[in-house]
Amino acid sequence: MSDKVNSDQKFEDFSTWYDKILLEAHIADDRYPVKGFTVYTGWGYSIAKRIYQMLENMLEEVDHQPMQFPVVIPEDAFQKEADHIEGFSAEVFWITHAGDNKLERRLLLRPTSETAIYPMFKLWIRSHADLPLRMHQTCNVYRYETKATRPLYRGREFLWNEGHTAHVDFEDAERQVQVAVKIYRKVYDALGLSYILLKRPDFDKFAGAVYTLAFDTWNPDGKTSQIGTVHNLGENFAKAFDVTYEDDEGSHRYVSNTCYGMGFGRTLAATIAHHGDNNGLVLPPLVAPKQVVIVPILFRGREGDVVGYSKEIEAKLKEAGIRTVLDDDDRLRPGEKYYKWDMYGVPLRVEVGPREAEARTVTLVRRDNRAKSKASFDELVETIQGLFEDLFADLKRRSRERLESELVDAHSLDELKSYMEQRKIARVNWCGEPRCAFELKDQVAGEVRGTLWDGSDEPTGPCMVCGDEAKYIAYVSQTY
Ligand SMILES: [Zn+2]
Repeated sequence: MSDKVNSDQKFEDFSTWYDKILLEAHIADDRYPVKGFTVYTGWGYSIAKRIYQMLENMLEEVDHQPMQFPVVIPEDAFQKEADHIEGFSAEVFWITHAGDNKLERRLLLRPTSETAIYPMFKLWIRSHADLPLRMHQTCNVYRYETKATRPLYRGREFLWNEGHTAHVDFEDAERQVQVAVKIYRKVYDALGLSYILLKRPDFDKFAGAVYTLAFDTWNPDGKTSQIGTVHNLGENFAKAFDVTYEDDEGSHRYVSNTCYGMGFGRTLAATIAHHGDNNGLVLPPLVAPKQVVIVPILFRGREGDVVGYSKEIEAKLKEAGIRTVLDDDDRLRPGEKYYKWDMYGVPLRVEVGPREAEARTVTLVRRDNRAKSKASFDELVETIQGLFEDLFADLKRRSRERLESELVDAHSLDELKSYMEQRKIARVNWCGEPRCAFELKDQVAGEVRGTLWDGSDEPTGPCMVCGDEAKYIAYVSQTY
């Protein structure tokens, strides 16, 4: 079956397409008068909220305590982990004054919260009985980004959820990494997003981590976007903050930490970018603020029947837990309503005219491929649930197919250059040396994003850059 999905605009001119949806579907408004700071508006924030509540629930099911730390971090705490300072200091917003008085101790707005949280872990953790300790928080973090900003992709304030854990040893931290990866996968899978899970090269890992895993996803403009990361911090932060516990033999040992973060702006942006089409958003039913819109089609003299029947349908769907809106605004024509709710990405439209009212049926229209079907009032709920499943399966499949179509194997720098111009994600043989990755970045409009974490990639020839034996298949792309 061919897909009647018309989505060429986002591939041809992503910026124009994306900016229009942000405003018209009330996702976000970038006109806030501070550069890099964006307002989430009603529809967009409702979707973001569903995404982070899903993540919060999953984390709490596996024993993460919800917490909320202060947004300010004292300078001395921030400066305890050397790599961390080096990685973040250029992006930090400082608070230096209270009124006209200079603060004795400078404070910074958290760019991430390790240096806020681990000094408290030190106070809370005494013995091995206190471990593992797992917490999470949904909050805003602040980074003075110097690259071009784009709403939800890169801003100077962003909304995320961060998880932090402490363990008796590195092995237990490794198990936690697996748990975090599994949860993040569940969230992205529930949104129908395809991604590759990469281990970042050492030169690109989180500042202070032993290693970093990153979920990278495709974008219609050919860049990849990092939508989540999971880090094993080993004892690096425990040593910096002196977080120890007494083991069962009475000796003091450092804890091992993990942390992970999921940005909701980028996750929402990916949901928009993967599934949207020329008419606007297309939302997975799970996170759609409204899942069904009922549009009555009124003919003079028959308004009463149609409106009454539409209200019956609305009540039935709401009772079944389906988020439903009845658009009975008589200032808009049906075509204008279709345009509006298409833009909002509501997964299903129920059309009700005099004929439907009389026969007690409805016409159902899928948002993604516009396929029409009929259902009787009695079988309405089951039919809609079936259509939700079909629509979601198709969104997920299209997203995966797109990712697969972007993945190519490059065998020479010239070939890689050409693939980067076509905005592909290329696999190349790599010896693992940073200098080869840097050389590659100098030569082509793309960079080494990492190696497949969970995969069975085997090099197929010598390193593309130096010709020595390759140890890895590296993924190379342009990136946000
Ligand atoms: Zn090499």
